Amino acid sequence: MVIAIDGPAGAGKSSVARAVAAELGFTYLDSGAMYRCVALAAVEAGVDLDDGATLGPLAGGLEIELDGRRALLGGRDVTPQIRGRDVTAAASRVSVHPEVREAMVARQRQLVAAGNYVAEGRDIGTVVSPEAPLKVFLTASDEERAHRRAAETGDDFESVLDAQRRRDARDTAREHGALRAAEDAVELDTSSMSLEEVTGRVVAMARQRGLT
Ligand code: C5P
Repeated sequence: MVIAIDGPAGAGKSSVARAVAAELGFTYLDSGAMYRCVALAAVEAGVDLDDGATLGPLAGGLEIELDGRRALLGGRDVTPQIRGRDVTAAASRVSVHPEVREAMVARQRQLVAAGNYVAEGRDIGTVVSPEAPLKVFLTASDEERAHRRAAETGDDFESVLDAQRRRDARDTAREHGALRAAEDAVELDTSSMSLEEVTGRVVAMARQRGLT
């Protein structure tokens, strides 16, 4: 069973999904880390990021393991590498290709079928698990999201805002698995909410719906 948490970059998905999973005793799934691993593998192999026909089989053949904290690619710990600026930009480019998405969605479905998950991403409630009994779509203003990311990475606000806008535009405009709220998702604007408040709201909804 899946609690789906979708939304744009910097809306607080990772922190909230992690905290909700810990509170409910569910497993946390960071689907973005999977696309980031594909991006890292593509960059390392020198594959053209616009070449979906080559990226699909590459993505399908990768050995990706996520344990909630670390990401392993072919057994190698790539946790810091997949958070770098270039891999972040590359992730939103490789993820536009339906061939790549099919490979990742199939794995995500396989994972969540085997237990109770809090899964975060862009298309969990719309594509990966449309049957999820609780879907949350987190948002926050562009500026607030960029402030959070800049505070985390130490990069300057304007360049974070600029990169974020380009990434949001690619994520929203793509044809497959586009970033959007499912019709039955509960939308929460986290701009002026604390992590504890957002987590508390999601946990309360899960309990109200009898999911724990
Ligand atoms: O969530 P995170 O910022 O780590 O995701 C990195 C990129 O992976 C996103 O910009 C998006 O393009 C892609 N992604 C996706 N579908 C998901 C999760 C992430 O396309 N479910």
